[in-house]
Order: sequence, then structure tokens, then C-alpha cells
Amino acid sequence: MSWRCCVSGCGSEGVPLFRIPKFNESLKTALKEKKKERRIVWLQKLNVKECDLNNNTRVCSRHFASGRPCKNSFDNSHPDWAPSLHVRNSVFDRVVQRNISRHSRRLERESRTLEKNSYMAYLL
Ligand SMILES: [Zn+2]
Repeated sequence: MSWRCCVSGCGSEGVPLFRIPKFNESLKTALKEKKKERRIVWLQKLNVKECDLNNNTRVCSRHFASGRPCKNSFDNSHPDWAPSLHVRNSVFDRVVQRNISRHSRRLERESRTLEKNSYMAYLL
């Protein structure tokens, strides 16, 4: 079975493919709600409808800044929380690039704050 990327006009071959996030409707957890939200955002970005999907629907690595979706469904500030590259137009791609650098700056800032706080705790 060979899968293809569902993004119209993509047609990438020989690149990693990823499933659309799924959630278990019977669960009543925060994770389910987050995954549901994530799935909706993915479909919007990919410009596909729920009825167009089947078990073989995949998205290729070209649509993620890091080449793959981020693992943490709760981290919706992560640029790869949803596919974003090569799905619309180049203006949109530029916005994504900016978000990526903003996100990495935030992570840097957080790790610096963490270091500072542990240093302060050490002093006390
Ligand atoms: Zn693709």
C-alpha cells in the first residue's frame, strides 16, 4: 500500500507521511478536546473536509517546519502543531517562518528563566 499526501497539488513522493490527528469520541478528557480542536485546525489548513478523509489519508513532511508534527497536542503554540507550509500561499509561509522563530525565542527565554530561577533557589 502506498500512500499519498492529501494536500492538493503536493504530490510529494518518498517523503515521510503522517496521519491526521484522531480522537476517541467516548473519552471525556482534556486530551480528547485538544485533539478534536487539532484535527479541525488541520482540516482547515489542509483545505479538506471530514467526508474526504479515510484511513489512508496522510499528510507529508513538506508541510511541517521541522519535517514532522509536534508530539504534544497541548502545545498549540508550536509551529508544527498543525501543518502550515506549502498549504496556501507564500505570504502564509512567511507568517509561519516568523512564528517559528518567535516560538524558538520563547523556548530560549523559558529555559533562561528556568536557569535563573534554579540559581535563585540555590542562593536562598
Ligand atoms: Zn504534501
